[in-house]
Amino acid sequence: MTKMQRQIQSFKSMNVAAMAWSAAAHAADCPRKGTLGTSRILRVDAATTPRVGLKSFPQTLPLGDHEVVLTFDDGPWPPTTPRVLAALASECVHATFFLIGKPASEHPDLVRRIAAEGHTVGHHSWLHRSLMQIPPNETTEEIDRGIAADEMALHGVATTTPSTPFFRFPGFEMTPATLDLLQSRGIVVFGADLWADDWNPMTPEQELKLITDRLKIARKGIILFHDPKAQTAAMLPAFLRYLRDDDYRVVHVVPASPGPQSRNQLEKSYNSDN
Ligand SMILES: [Zn+2]
Repeated sequence: MTKMQRQIQSFKSMNVAAMAWSAAAHAADCPRKGTLGTSRILRVDAATTPRVGLKSFPQTLPLGDHEVVLTFDDGPWPPTTPRVLAALASECVHATFFLIGKPASEHPDLVRRIAAEGHTVGHHSWLHRSLMQIPPNETTEEIDRGIAADEMALHGVATTTPSTPFFRFPGFEMTPATLDLLQSRGIVVFGADLWADDWNPMTPEQELKLITDRLKIARKGIILFHDPKAQTAAMLPAFLRYLRDDDYRVVHVVPASPGPQSRNQLEKSYNSDN
């Protein structure tokens, strides 16, 4: 390796470390003047609101005009999830991530980072198979293996009792039986009120226009994005600025009652890994 190559290498590793430090520092430094900020915390209880989201259900969360809940599905996914986290941290807003179990088991450090930066971690199955099209015994396995993988990454315990009892069906594909199963276990099913169609290829500019046009009509709601999508990670800073400039308020959803793993334990495990 030449001297110049070594310098480039060392600059690159410094830069990566600086980016990670900067997002964590930003998150620690909130609330901060001039940022969008999280406006309030909404506790969601499966006993009173077992299913929310107008795409699939007649009811949604009790949000006021210009209030939005930000949700990100299908992660964790390096390198895009850290870009999403950095954008959220720089505007001091908290979101909810519905994780797929297999990538969570492969990137536990990133799962712990999501939680340590104050975001809510919900569940999105083990492999993202359609839970409408597989046999019922495999449905339970898909749900439980996903929850256990997320919990293992978060707290080192492969429990099927989720710390945060929030679940979103892959592709919103649910049946009366799977809905009953989750309700019987006190797990809130999250749909969505609006979405960016970010599963389709488009430029960040096109995605920004699509979601802001929809938000102008809906004026509030649970918004669905996908953090593994590079176009979403690229678009997010501009979308958060749009929310700030147009007087939208971000609501952070959390479970009504604390789960079996305490937040202290989580912080301890995050700090010891970093
Ligand atoms: Zn999904």
